[in-house]
Amino acid sequence: MSEDFLFLHAFNFLVMNFPVRSSKYLFRILPFAAFLTINFCAAQALTFRIVDKPIVFDEERKQLSLDYLARRHGIQQPEPYIKPKMIVLHWTAIPTLEATFDAFNPSVLPGRPDLQATSRLNTAVPFLVDRDGTIFRLLPDTTFARHCIGLNYCAIGIENVGNDDLTEAQLEANVQLVRYLAHKYNIEYLIGHYEYKDFIGTPLWKETDPNYLTGKTDPGKSFMLNVRKRVKDLNLKGSPLQAE
Ligand SMILES: [Zn+2]
Repeated sequence: MSEDFLFLHAFNFLVMNFPVRSSKYLFRILPFAAFLTINFCAAQALTFRIVDKPIVFDEERKQLSLDYLARRHGIQQPEPYIKPKMIVLHWTAIPTLEATFDAFNPSVLPGRPDLQATSRLNTAVPFLVDRDGTIFRLLPDTTFARHCIGLNYCAIGIENVGNDDLTEAQLEANVQLVRYLAHKYNIEYLIGHYEYKDFIGTPLWKETDPNYLTGKTDPGKSFMLNVRKRVKDLNLKGSPLQAE
């Protein structure tokens, strides 16, 4: 809102303080006034923003990502990028943005022996939504990230700071982000992390070890219900078990 106000204020200042006394002034001021007006209108329309806040993506993370793709998903490829077909929503179970950032930032998984046995690649997602709805981009949209067993190779992850207490602002930000991604990529599915096991046995499921599974409840059924209600027009598919 402050940006909108700034443009409006600048425009008013210009109009009030530079009375047009001659055509010479008019020619000087008009392009500037037009520029301000265009920016003011753009600022009015712009309610969706992504703030880049990159985590480390060094050679080690790249190699661990390629290794995960090969060993876990059975996919050999030269670069750690995905063709997204799915969006997976999460909650962090960590109460603050900074603590979440610090958890995702290292390339190597810090001390989780259960997960380290399957890969040393640290968990991460491209998008992290703070309690106030601010959307942070931790990695380019289609960079490979470890956040959902069996589906990482095709899924963009969105994490929400919090637990079973996600906010209205986070709901709104998730809706906008899902819309943004669905328009940008060929997204077919929108799921909550707790639904991921429903894809076992479908062509989308790619995990070489049938015993590598973890129990998930995030981001909660009511949160998913609310997001789905508000992006209904996108006709995204959910869990195959819920399909009609
Ligand atoms: Zn999750």
